[in-house]
Amino acid sequence: MSIFNDNLARLRDIQILENISDKDLTVLLSPVQTNYTELEIKGKKYPAWRIVYNRALGPGKGGIRFHPEVSEDEVKSLAFWMTLKNSLAEIPYGGAKGGVKFSPKQASSAELEEVSRKYVDNFYNFLGQDKDVPAPDVYTNKQIMSWMLDEFEHKVGHHEPGMITGKPLELGGIALRSDATAEGAYIVTQELSRELIKKSEIKVAIQGFGNAGMFMAEKLYNNGYKVVAVSDSQGGIYQTTGLDISKLIIAKKSGQTVGLWSGGNQISNLELLELDVDILALAALENQITIDNANRIKADYLVELANGPITDEADKILAEHNKIIVPDILANSGGVIVSYFEWAQNKTGQILDEEYLAKLLNQKMKNSWSRVYSKYLEKDKKITLRQAAYILAIKRVLAAEKWRS
Ligand code: NAD
Repeated sequence: MSIFNDNLARLRDIQILENISDKDLTVLLSPVQTNYTELEIKGKKYPAWRIVYNRALGPGKGGIRFHPEVSEDEVKSLAFWMTLKNSLAEIPYGGAKGGVKFSPKQASSAELEEVSRKYVDNFYNFLGQDKDVPAPDVYTNKQIMSWMLDEFEHKVGHHEPGMITGKPLELGGIALRSDATAEGAYIVTQELSRELIKKSEIKVAIQGFGNAGMFMAEKLYNNGYKVVAVSDSQGGIYQTTGLDISKLIIAKKSGQTVGLWSGGNQISNLELLELDVDILALAALENQITIDNANRIKADYLVELANGPITDEADKILAEHNKIIVPDILANSGGVIVSYFEWAQNKTGQILDEEYLAKLLNQKMKNSWSRVYSKYLEKDKKITLRQAAYILAIKRVLAAEKWRS
């Protein structure tokens, strides 16, 4: 299944809804730059990509993923979503993404470092604070960002911390970045709860217990939501009365597998998706809800912390069942918004107050939610929240393109 074809189908729907000309839409149908190479490590070759989808609003911006299933189709789709996400968040970036097709879980630290440095050796000419700015994504982290920055600076011969975000504090990162994606998703979930769910007790299931999912679970748990199930790639756990997320995080950090934790009953990933909860938060990978399971989803509200967890066909089935989806380009935009704060700080050399930035993140997330929700109401709820978000994001990119032409 091509994820990118799904995106094209969604674009065509927006074209019809908003009467966008073929000529205007052309700029969004394919990436402006696709770089591909193979990283050779100990005689093995690992395919690697860096794709810039659009630059109308600013330099490329988007994470780098290390995963055995990475493909060009996936990286291109992720770069497309970054373009729309950055546009919707009203930050001065185009959209980009990178990936290496290899299995980091089995790799030693030395191998991870080699992959990270070789990635930059191959692509450094195309990277830079004003060209294209990577960040962490699935199975990449601040150590990997540090190696990449170091390699880049050796290559170009000067310091340039703004060439990459998600760095450790000592290399110009900011504390707010580590849980920013979950913080942003939590802020929009609060808005969703206030405007639409309107219940005193809200039950949540969360798929994925990494950077995005674990912090989201913690925030919901600490703020009175009942998190009844969570899972990671090895399986999940379920407890009707609610899981003690603080204890689970301690267990996970000490190396225990989520699915084997004693504080809940074992459940498979597929079962978790079909639980009878109010909110299903998707924080793992793409294509988790498809034509095969969309009819069995019981949650009335879905929040996409992951990029692209619901296919276009599944979207349509869920809409028929009146399910409300807070789309990825809105729900998980907190990460890139804080990356923007980090980048702006690196570029100007100014140190900004973290309390002020946290407030700014809160304002930006609420503002994005409010624009998307208003568009949805303006269209008499005849479109989805995803379509509302896409309309706003696409129009902003097309307007920037027009000013340039
Ligand atoms: P991560 O590597 O920290 O965590 C991924 C988690 O998903 C892990 O717990 C893994 O075990 C789990 N997982 C993998 N396959 C699974 C499966 N089939 N079922 C259940 N769980 C599974 O990655 P992350 O940074 O948390 O990213 C998760 C998603 O959020 C990705 O789609 C990513 O693109 C998106 N995202 C992350 C950020 C960020 O700042 N971290 C920002 C925007 C979007």
